[in-house]
Amino acid sequence: MRRRLSILVACMCGAVGVFPAAAAAKPVKVAATLSTFADLAKTVGGDRVEVSAVASPKFNPHFIEPKPSDVLKVKRADLFIDAGLDLELWRGPLLDAAGNARLFPGGPGELDLSQGLELLEVPGRGASRAQGDLHLYGNPHYWHDPENAKRMATAIAEKLSALDPEHAGDYRRNLQAFLARLDQKIPEWQSRLAPYRGRELVGDHRAWPYLMRFLGLQMEQHLEPKPGIPPTPRQIEFLEQYIRERRIPAIVRAGYFPPGAAESLAKRTGAKVVLLCQSVREIPACSDYIAMLDYNVNQLVEALRP
Ligand SMILES: [Zn+2]
Repeated sequence: MRRRLSILVACMCGAVGVFPAAAAAKPVKVAATLSTFADLAKTVGGDRVEVSAVASPKFNPHFIEPKPSDVLKVKRADLFIDAGLDLELWRGPLLDAAGNARLFPGGPGELDLSQGLELLEVPGRGASRAQGDLHLYGNPHYWHDPENAKRMATAIAEKLSALDPEHAGDYRRNLQAFLARLDQKIPEWQSRLAPYRGRELVGDHRAWPYLMRFLGLQMEQHLEPKPGIPPTPRQIEFLEQYIRERRIPAIVRAGYFPPGAAESLAKRTGAKVVLLCQSVREIPACSDYIAMLDYNVNQLVEALRP
């Protein structure tokens, strides 16, 4: 008798899941290519969304090998958020493998965050992947400018509202709260770097022009002679002289970028190496979008302080 009762209870519990009210409360499943986009989706979506990211922030976002579990995540997603352009060279094969037609480019469940943003470093005609250039449509690392983060979060709120109109009010409120926090932080971040306006740094990969512009800093030269081409002895030799002549105080590097070239240049020139987060949750201090900006600003201030 006791056994039959427990089976009955189990059946009742299972049945709750198929009541229409419970079905309507299902969260929107979001698969984002990068952890930064996943974080913005969570900030805007709150408990109305179930968010996952494909690329670990510890790896170069251009070259990720999605796992079978990532394919499954995308297959089951209601919304796919990506950087557009040619940031995720693995995006097309991932979408093909998942085969969820709603998420294909331009589909109702796809959100290309580059849409409507003003891009930097759009190359002229003649740039080609054969020459190793990874940024063929303009620089795709635009999320480092918080003004762009405002537009990205707004686009996410609009998309979530279209997919889940019943909770559009929640998305609007969460978005407003995030925009208000950014409006409060933006002048603080900019004023912390104001004493160093116009100072020049050397980079690793060409991933930082949006952050540099936002903070009033310069970055013309990189360890990679071209985006995607690893540092060559010739480039290192050139940079050694460049850093000395211009008294460049620091070399910026993301965690994934091999440390050797930056460290040896730093040793020879006296420049510091400054580690920045290229995406949210790369390290515990970069736990969300605002924390990542806080961390990156602090790191730059430390590197530039005389
Ligand atoms: Zn890049």
